[in-house]
Amino acid sequence: MSNKRDYYEVLGLTKNATTEDIKNAYRKLALQYHPDRNKSPGAEEKFKEISEAYAVLSDAEKRKRYDTYGHVGAEEVFRGSEANFDEIFRDMGFGGFRDIFEQIFERGGGFGFGGFDPFGFGRAQRRRGRDLLYDMELSLRDVLKGRKEDIEVPRLERCSTCAGTGAAPGTQPRKCSVCNGQGQTRRVYNQGRFSTFVSVEPCRTCRGQGQIIDRPCDNCGGSGSVRTKKKIRLEIPPGVEDGMTLQLSGEGEPPEQGHGQGQPGDLLVRIHVAPDPQFERLQDGNLLHNLGLKFTDLVLGTEVKVPAVEGTEKLKIPQGTQPNTVMKIKGKGLPRYGSSGRGDLLVRVNVKVPTKLNDRQKWLLKELDRELDNDND
Ligand SMILES: [Zn+2]
Ligand SMILES: [Zn+2]
Repeated sequence: MSNKRDYYEVLGLTKNATTEDIKNAYRKLALQYHPDRNKSPGAEEKFKEISEAYAVLSDAEKRKRYDTYGHVGAEEVFRGSEANFDEIFRDMGFGGFRDIFEQIFERGGGFGFGGFDPFGFGRAQRRRGRDLLYDMELSLRDVLKGRKEDIEVPRLERCSTCAGTGAAPGTQPRKCSVCNGQGQTRRVYNQGRFSTFVSVEPCRTCRGQGQIIDRPCDNCGGSGSVRTKKKIRLEIPPGVEDGMTLQLSGEGEPPEQGHGQGQPGDLLVRIHVAPDPQFERLQDGNLLHNLGLKFTDLVLGTEVKVPAVEGTEKLKIPQGTQPNTVMKIKGKGLPRYGSSGRGDLLVRVNVKVPTKLNDRQKWLLKELDRELDNDND
């Protein structure tokens, strides 16, 4: 909490901003950073930051407390703010407070509530299983053809003996009577100027699960899941780019114990395309190859073979081609991801200047040089 920016600064305001100023500033920034409309990296973090600032400054009592004491516990920030956000979001044509904040939580962005959880969002997050990340290295040839591969992913699977409940077959987990199945307990403190200060903590009796298992399942020891290696067939489509992440819905870990009805997480496959010594990858599936030729090839013209991602291609060098000319072999680049067609193979022609010449070659070149000088006269 210590490295938090000043809430006024976050919203671009000064300490004497009016309620209306605060609302307007937040509305403007929310339009810019709302995750429904801004998908750029960092936008979500920014959205959280401005929302937190707004949650505090738009509430007269919280604002007063902030002005006096500075940043308070995060669990306090959003409590009771739902109405303020709903009004603004509806105005802008977005969903309500709950829609967007639950969405952010589900993605595991981590709001930094610590152990506190004023809206039970943490429970929503736990309900969904964890996402798994798998890194995959591809060559340009893989990009051309796509790649199918069976991989083994170590992950938790829902225990089949107890169907994920964690209770021995024939028994059921029972609701925790201490927290009444909520998984959390509230404590109300009377602290100094604050009439009530409510702290929400995970229930100690059931360790936040909301239920108690009297006879744990033998197979999973009561956790509801077992660690296995799951074989998954990956089918990487052609044309993928370095840094892309492909998402296999539901191939992550199962929902946590006690949330048997929740959704499993996703398997995220992060693509790394290895740099290729022969080709530079340009936009739109285009590839660039640098080709060094003899001076005479450019002067006289010739036909050469150039490497392609697969095999070779013939390329005609016209008589009198200048160095650095870029020639195009149509359709021999890479497939374009998510659309049809392929890019081109671009060949940049350069001159290889010989560094060692025998006497005869020298003599011939000098003769040629003299001839060319005569031509120019
Ligand atoms: Zn089990
Ligand atoms: Zn409990």
